[in-house]
Amino acid sequence: YDTNYLHENAYTETSLLSEAFNKMLGRLKTLDDSRQEFVANVSHELKTPITSMKVLADSLLVQEDAPVELYREFMADLSEEIEREDKIINDLLSLVKMDKTASTLDVKQTNINDLVEKILKRLQPIAAAANVEVVFESFRPVNAEVDEVKISLAITNLVENAVKYNVDGGWVHVALNADHKYFYIEVADSGIGIPQEAQEHIFERFYRVDKSHSREIGGTGLGLAIARNAVVLHRGAVKVYSQVGEGTTFTVRIPLSYVV
Ligand code: ADP
Repeated sequence: YDTNYLHENAYTETSLLSEAFNKMLGRLKTLDDSRQEFVANVSHELKTPITSMKVLADSLLVQEDAPVELYREFMADLSEEIEREDKIINDLLSLVKMDKTASTLDVKQTNINDLVEKILKRLQPIAAAANVEVVFESFRPVNAEVDEVKISLAITNLVENAVKYNVDGGWVHVALNADHKYFYIEVADSGIGIPQEAQEHIFERFYRVDKSHSREIGGTGLGLAIARNAVVLHRGAVKVYSQVGEGTTFTVRIPLSYVV
């Protein structure tokens, strides 16, 4: 019996085990870090509108005989901050719902052409207000097994962004196509574009290219995270192509039939 050999073998096993253990610890730590970061981000984002509301309310309170016009102005600002808080909470709820597993999908055979048209119709007032023209081009009728609510959220967020980050008199082009396996939705805009180094981060929760600008146009930084989650739950993929000052194109690819 070669005890030396046995001993060496056990030694290798132990070091392999401890290596695997360390790897797992590392992964757990990364998970925990990103969870902590998420909670910190959420708290911060939720607190920002509250802080503004408090400042607005307090500054009215300390003014004696403030004229009615001033009250109106402050109330309008307060209302805006409340709306913002509401938007963040709604986006967070959408995200949390989708953070669960794909088993939460409510998949049904859906007419995607109708779905896209419905979404664009709903967004038309926002586009008109921004003086952006939205055009829909469908290359074929598409029926697919999707969770209508979640896919709607994804498309809505992409088109809303294409309108929001556009220029006066700009355009948004939405195209729908399919092959035997997938359907494809492309949302192209003539907007401000996304810098190369930011493109890999835009799908992260709370990430915004230009914080102050995005805040001005009412972003929560959650729209693309929601869109990507919805698409990935359907085993699809979303990609971005962009050139600063020229425009941005998002492409979405989703399987026609949903396989568990
Ligand atoms: P937000 O609520 O800020 O719009 P999103 O998650 O939807 O958050 O998008 C993240 C960031 O990516 C935005 O703040 C914006 O800077 C950038 N972005 C998204 N879509 C576009 C687009 N079509 N054109 C230019 N920038 C975009």
